[in-house]
Amino acid sequence: MLTDHDLQELLNYSSPEPMLSVYLNTDPAGGNSDAQKLQMRNLLEGVNLPDDQAAVLKHFEQLRDARGRGLALFSYAAGDFFRAYPLAVTLRSRVFVGDHPYVKPLADLLDAYGSYGVALVDKQGARLFHFHLGELIEQEGILLGEEIRHTRGKASSSSPGGRGGISSQDRNNNEMSSRNLREAADFSVKFFEEVHTRRVLVGGTDETIAQFQQFLPKTWQSLVVGTFPMSMTATHSEVLTRAMQIGQQAEQQRETTLVETMLTAAAKGQEGAVRLEDTLSAVHAGRVKTLIVQEGLRLPAYQCAGCGHLLTQSLEACLFCGKNFLKINDAVELAVRRVMQTGGDVEIVRNNPALKEVGIGALLRY
Ligand SMILES: [Zn+2]
Repeated sequence: MLTDHDLQELLNYSSPEPMLSVYLNTDPAGGNSDAQKLQMRNLLEGVNLPDDQAAVLKHFEQLRDARGRGLALFSYAAGDFFRAYPLAVTLRSRVFVGDHPYVKPLADLLDAYGSYGVALVDKQGARLFHFHLGELIEQEGILLGEEIRHTRGKASSSSPGGRGGISSQDRNNNEMSSRNLREAADFSVKFFEEVHTRRVLVGGTDETIAQFQQFLPKTWQSLVVGTFPMSMTATHSEVLTRAMQIGQQAEQQRETTLVETMLTAAAKGQEGAVRLEDTLSAVHAGRVKTLIVQEGLRLPAYQCAGCGHLLTQSLEACLFCGKNFLKINDAVELAVRRVMQTGGDVEIVRNNPALKEVGIGALLRY
């Protein structure tokens, strides 16, 4: 699994010479091990980094059945740098050569599948889940009522969905159930804070979902991105599948709103930037709160070797410091990396005609 720590390391690493980044789709549905190996070899064709190619292939062979559905590999053999992350989500196979790990595809995965908290609630308890990049990371359960019981487990203990020992007493008592849902809400907030999630989904019946949400503090109410009907006895994989579906839908809606907000702000000249040049200068000035990028966008730019000033067309000398400009093959990647390094959000957006007009933009801090 890819942790925040891993991500920060990748964001901050740079190599003095070209290094290799490989993203490989290893979804078993897309072909067996031989087919994957062939795909890997095809990807690496034309790359002229023999030591890194060998390192990547060797690791791929060793993983055998532990390749997940997607694999991200980063190698700079001369600097003894090698990182491999099997992922539980599918990705598009791609290869990059550059002086740092290529993180744009990871930004996309984190945006779509990164940290989700899920609360499954009924009148007698709650089951809580933390999913990250398509994997169950942590779970916790609580039974409420006369006796309060906690169950807690890391994802590795693959205990089934059953809650065990639930009282069969008929507690058709509104007061009791609303007290329970209030307690479940408090309990859930603690869990979500502990696992540092900022996106919450709630499952249950219409009635319990509505009540549960009322009992959440206002700030947490606003972090609920979706709700869905689900039985308390659902299995992990049922919850995960449904949560990812609802999460994706919610994410797309949220992104549509963000794009509109950005376009309006930029048009009014307030806290918004659009198109590459303005966006890059906002990135360079550290003003970007949320970077918004059309999926698959790749654009060149020119960076001053002296002060780092970024332009979409090269000048002979920098207006600020007089130094010359160097070409950057993918300035979108540079923007993504910078914004992630400084703790800003990156939104990779699909199928949005309004964004397609400008390609890239940002909501600004000031
Ligand atoms: Zn300069």
